[in-house]
Amino acid sequence: MSGPVYTPEELLVRLVAFDTTSYKSNLELIAFVEDYLLQHGVLSARVASPEGDKACLFATIGPQDVGGIALSGHTDVVPVDGQIWDSDPFTLRIGDDDRLYGRGTCDMKGFLACALASVPDYKRRRLKTPIHLAFSYDEEVGCLGVRPMIAEFGRTLPKPRLTIVGEPTSMQVVDAHKGPVRWLVEVTGRAMHSSMAHLGVNAITYAMRLIGELERIEAELPVSARNDRFEPPYATLQVTRIDGGTATNIVPVTCRFGFDVRSVPGLDVSAIERRLITFAEENCLPEMRRIAPEATISIVRANNVPPFGVSAESEIVALTLKLAGQNKTHGVSYATEAGLFQDAGSQAIVCGPGDIAQAHAANEWLARDQLTKCMGFLKRLGDWAES
Ligand SMILES: [Zn+2]
Repeated sequence: MSGPVYTPEELLVRLVAFDTTSYKSNLELIAFVEDYLLQHGVLSARVASPEGDKACLFATIGPQDVGGIALSGHTDVVPVDGQIWDSDPFTLRIGDDDRLYGRGTCDMKGFLACALASVPDYKRRRLKTPIHLAFSYDEEVGCLGVRPMIAEFGRTLPKPRLTIVGEPTSMQVVDAHKGPVRWLVEVTGRAMHSSMAHLGVNAITYAMRLIGELERIEAELPVSARNDRFEPPYATLQVTRIDGGTATNIVPVTCRFGFDVRSVPGLDVSAIERRLITFAEENCLPEMRRIAPEATISIVRANNVPPFGVSAESEIVALTLKLAGQNKTHGVSYATEAGLFQDAGSQAIVCGPGDIAQAHAANEWLARDQLTKCMGFLKRLGDWAES
């Protein structure tokens, strides 16, 4: 079976034209990819979102009974709302400067276009190691959409032995990044006229106590898990927003704050959460409840992207360096889905076309030669998978 052969640029035109902003559906794009693959004789499987308005797509080229190497990317893009663009963000524009302008060109439909443009080549080969396509949604809102697909690995979908996450790295090999984990804390005390403060429970006071404990935890982070791949070479913890009280003459009944940990591999973020909960139970709630039995402190994890790090001796590191023609790996400060694949037992790496500096910005662009480089990389991947 021989389906239509497109250049990566032609495919990128098509992919960019689907407005897959994270808060919208990606199903039209998924249907396009499904149909394209089918025309090349490749069956794919959707993993639908719980609401059914979005889906992941998983496909295998080559033997179906062994774990292969996945080309992984997200189909969603960040909003253009509030940004000033020189042209329609969802119409690919080729600049005189050999740059391809459009939302998602860099992050990361360029990689998806290259992976899809390589399908006819992969189909022609007698692959010994299968090449999987693993396309997700809702990456830009906390790496959420890839999780239901990963949950199917080893069940309805084969688990890729290796995974290349094609986020923009300028085709360099990224083997480590920090993981952003966020919590929302809500302290509820008892409101009272401020002249009768002894009968109220001041939520801001107890929030401050919790923040004091977080400050002590933060002070320990530079020594608890170090990793010289990062700047700074340890996890950080910050209270990033706070909101409390009603009026200057009322004992505040609620105080909400959020904090963010930029985790490094090896740091147990759950231990931070447990320590704060224990502190609340021992050093805040008994005192609060002596006056107001209804007092509560809720600590909820709002975002949980694991940090990513793969051992320098891993097969995926050696393979990706060879395919990319590079001799060293890099650590980066932005997060990807790689840690989720890694935690599921698939050795992961990050390598893809485009510079992260252009991601998420107005007039987002991808240099044309990045597509060429990525196609060379994917062709060498085909050679390897055939050998
Ligand atoms: Zn991305």
